[in-house]
Amino acid sequence: MRQTLVVGNWKLNGSLDSIKQLISGITAGEADTGNAQIGVCPPFVYIPLVANLLADSKVAWGSQDIADQESGAFTGEVSGAMLNDFGCTYAIVGHSERRSIYGEDDDFTARKFAAARKAGLTPILCVGESLEEREQGITEDVVSRQLDAVIKLEGIAGIGEGVIAYEPVWAIGTGKTASPEMAQEVHAFIRGKLAGLDQSVADKVQILYGGSVKSSNAAGLFDAMEDIDGGLIGGASLDADEFLSICKVGA
Ligand code: PEP
Repeated sequence: MRQTLVVGNWKLNGSLDSIKQLISGITAGEADTGNAQIGVCPPFVYIPLVANLLADSKVAWGSQDIADQESGAFTGEVSGAMLNDFGCTYAIVGHSERRSIYGEDDDFTARKFAAARKAGLTPILCVGESLEEREQGITEDVVSRQLDAVIKLEGIAGIGEGVIAYEPVWAIGTGKTASPEMAQEVHAFIRGKLAGLDQSVADKVQILYGGSVKSSNAAGLFDAMEDIDGGLIGGASLDADEFLSICKVGA
């Protein structure tokens, strides 16, 4: 039985004050979230603060990105070892905003996935199609290609050490959620693809759904759908009560 995992991706949001308030709201209500695994991914600079504030909590933390390199002349980058120094559990890689705005391709994303694993972090690999790709009927080809880049570099066992987040690009931050059935179809495709290589990996890997998840639609996605093991949550993770209500779905 896979545990439900809910991870908040705070993106480029927050301040010292707002993050203190958000964490205090989350920790105040975390007791009601049962067995759900929970994580939050703040902007890099706030990770030490969040690590301190969550020291006695079950809520884990992670980064929104990671360098593909370990050290050296790579201005602006943050390595896996640095994230490890601050107790990170997760590192998101290949978020569609990194892919589309910053031009990060499949191979670069795969190297980031490898860097996270090498540092002992759990990479959360984001995959998903654009609206145009869905309309062209190539959703599975796109998702397959994104997964294959990681499988080629890290092997099937390697990808199995991470978490996969299916995030249709057209549903991120738009208020448009894929219907539970649409999401389940792609999740089942992903799990089936992994099963074709190694059934035990397919059985254990957590596949999250992301794209305008809210407390009002979370149950239909994670509770009702066999292959949806939780969510990667953007906007709704910035409100403690809303985020906790989503986490409670997995309690
Ligand atoms: C995300 O950023 O990964 C995301 C799913 O955002 P939102 O929930 O705001 O659509």
